[in-house]
Amino acid sequence: MPNLAQLLTSKSSAEYQRVFNICRDISSELEDVDGVYVVGGVVRDLILDREPGDIDLSVVGDAAAFSLALASRLGARSPIESQFQTFKIDSEKMTIGMPSVDVVTARSETYTEPAALPDVTVGTIDDDLKRRDFSVNAMAVSLSATDWGNLVDPANGFGDIMRKRIKVLHDGSFVDDPTRIFRAVRYSIRLSFSLDARTKSLIEKSLANIDILSGTRVRNEFELMLTEPGLVELLRTSEEIGLLAAISPGLRIGSKALLVLEEMAENDSVPSDQTDLLALLTFGMNEDEAAQVVNRFQGPANWGESIVGNAELAKHVAVLDKSDILPSEVVEILKPVPTASIRAYVEAGPPLPRRDRLNQYLEKLQFVKPDTTGADLIDAGIPEGPVMGKLIEVIRRAKLDGQVKTKDEELELAKSRLPGFLTN
Ligand code: ATP
Repeated sequence: MPNLAQLLTSKSSAEYQRVFNICRDISSELEDVDGVYVVGGVVRDLILDREPGDIDLSVVGDAAAFSLALASRLGARSPIESQFQTFKIDSEKMTIGMPSVDVVTARSETYTEPAALPDVTVGTIDDDLKRRDFSVNAMAVSLSATDWGNLVDPANGFGDIMRKRIKVLHDGSFVDDPTRIFRAVRYSIRLSFSLDARTKSLIEKSLANIDILSGTRVRNEFELMLTEPGLVELLRTSEEIGLLAAISPGLRIGSKALLVLEEMAENDSVPSDQTDLLALLTFGMNEDEAAQVVNRFQGPANWGESIVGNAELAKHVAVLDKSDILPSEVVEILKPVPTASIRAYVEAGPPLPRRDRLNQYLEKLQFVKPDTTGADLIDAGIPEGPVMGKLIEVIRRAKLDGQVKTKDEELELAKSRLPGFLTN
């Protein structure tokens, strides 16, 4: 069995080494702990000499006692049991730059139905590795003093890292958990690995199972995609293999949006705001497709506003090409549209006069407000009530169109229009 002690001591940063050393000490002290392993992504990333993410530990034995001792020595709050026998030690309050630590009880998992949550039973480290997604994520390195650094690699993940390939552990893997399809594509792009031939064919056969996943699970996976540095390539590949269409038939990334995103990626200016990114990605989808996509993701109320907003804007945007359109009319058309959709249109829409109007709205028109306040109207003798709001709106429109310039002119306008509102 190869020994990777070198990785634990010289390749990982001081914070990781500190966690590993504490794990070694605790595993010698606790009688009910038979083994402690660092597993999954950290092992993969250390072998690849990439900066690892949060630490996943697998404990053979009493993981609750182990995680409590670990949290205490790290100066962290008591661990929280997130799922059955899984304990999260949050990096908050620990040293800056410290990763969070997830501790699981080594277990085996069985799926009674496709895409259901698995049945869990306590098991060995080999069982724990067998339940994982891909060979490159199914390696463990021992942190116990007695076999410190020993690699446990039943699926030959090490070999697959050398061959640069993502390989699933068994044929039913994507049926058990279709979120692994998203994960496979994500890792292959992130690590510049290829999908091994059998894995690729299993993905193709399992795409329809994405339908069984809840909206929340699909949304989580989709949102993880959006945070990947190789987003453009990831989207392109996802479209090519039919993953986007498997989420929702109308979900596709238009070629223009991809070009825009590619340029943004080159300039390091991909929108960090998720709403902006969603608007750009879904630019060009029609109203029905947009509604279907939003419905599929079952997000919180405002989640898909910019996706639906794109289709809404597309219905009205041509009017903005009229040369005699007034600024107040531009505002009236664009006010109900999410600004993320307007920004997406500026980036990906045609270079017609409408683009200037959209920019004017974003930069200036949306912020125009009267100088006159409700208190000013009362001082001017205007009765309190709904009429005040209507007069403020009249003033705003007049200001937008350059018909009033000063506060005095605004008040004059309000007084002159008051009788009309009172008689209505
Ligand atoms: P990342 O850098 O993306 O966080 P990671 O490999 O650490 O990579 P996590 O999502 O944090 O990914 O998962 C930790 C480990 O848990 C994985 O390496 C893998 O072994 C296992 N795992 C996570 N999700 C699944 C899944 N859906 N099916 C099987 N194993 C999984």
